[in-house]
Amino acid sequence: MRFVDEYRDADAARQVAAGIAATVTPGRQYRLMEVCGGHTHTIYKHGLEDYLPETVTLVHGPGCPVCVIPMGRVDDAMHIARQPDVIMTSFGDLMRVPGSHGSFLDANAEGTDIRMVYSPLDSLRIAKANPDRQIVFMAIGFETTTPSTALTVRRAAAEGIENFSVFCNHVLVNPAIRAILDDPDQRLDGFIGPGHVSCVIGCEPYRFIAEQYGRPIVVSGFEPLDILRSIHLVLRQLAEGRCEVENQYTRVVPWHGNPRALAAIDEVMTVRPTFEWRGLGTIAGSAMRMRDEYAAFDAERRFDVPGIRVADPKACQCGEVLKGVLKPWECKVFGTACTPETPIGTCMVSAEGACAAYYNYGRFTRSRVREAAGLEMSRR
Ligand code: SF4
Repeated sequence: MRFVDEYRDADAARQVAAGIAATVTPGRQYRLMEVCGGHTHTIYKHGLEDYLPETVTLVHGPGCPVCVIPMGRVDDAMHIARQPDVIMTSFGDLMRVPGSHGSFLDANAEGTDIRMVYSPLDSLRIAKANPDRQIVFMAIGFETTTPSTALTVRRAAAEGIENFSVFCNHVLVNPAIRAILDDPDQRLDGFIGPGHVSCVIGCEPYRFIAEQYGRPIVVSGFEPLDILRSIHLVLRQLAEGRCEVENQYTRVVPWHGNPRALAAIDEVMTVRPTFEWRGLGTIAGSAMRMRDEYAAFDAERRFDVPGIRVADPKACQCGEVLKGVLKPWECKVFGTACTPETPIGTCMVSAEGACAAYYNYGRFTRSRVREAAGLEMSRR
């Protein structure tokens, strides 16, 4: 299949691996963060760590939209959903994210009307079919999904649909990357940049990473060879003493992004002063809210939203996983109390979560074997 088979060719992967091995400086340790959860899944599904020298460590970043939603926002959404005549709509993976008193699925089982949708437009259809109910779309996601929410709101306004609103939780990738770079506990040598977000925002907005923080970033596709080639490009920059933004995913990502999608976002939404992220705390200018011109479609103005803030469960170490400080299997409850069937934290829920990736594909990966060997050595 075009654009798939040629990016999964084992011989080509071995050639790139040989190039990587020839690029690294002997004795130097490299820590590269793949920002996007989709990349994390490819890495573990296809065993890409096994193609890398021992000195190259991949660190998983915060680019999973479900994972970064704090418990308080789930509780706020639940509060709206329990108002009379409300139908809450949500993407499927969010349905299982635990709030303080259970997930949307649990609430649904108790009679709260929360429905799974595949797109914001599905919510608009539900609104048209239920004119005596208030339909609230729980909007989440990075810049990838924000345009579809913005375009849906625009359509609702154009069609005069008055019983539809959005509980807006759209977040921005670059403030999160900046927060990670500002974290003194974090030592990263470079980034594998998110492919889907970049389809919308392009590559220019990442320049601060190279220019202000001196780290290379390569925007990458999602097939195994895309990621290996992107790792090679980052390592080559480091070897040559360069720090630049490069675009490996040129078959999809335009350098300047998608101006129509950006214009739709800008028309309907504006940047919030602050937003709380799971694990990363409150980050300035890191999320979107509805503009005053579209206040009629803003669930936070239409309903009384308590603005709940709750600490994560004590056992949950999603914050450390999202910052790349811990590997998923280092969380005490990984694979025991916390599994995809009984998730305690968000990283085990989403198809893009690092813990789900490890659980499904990578429970015995090189890093774990290496760590186990290290423990054995230290016991001797
Ligand atoms: S194993 Fe569960 S609780 Fe631990 S970090 Fe992963 S998702 Fe969070």
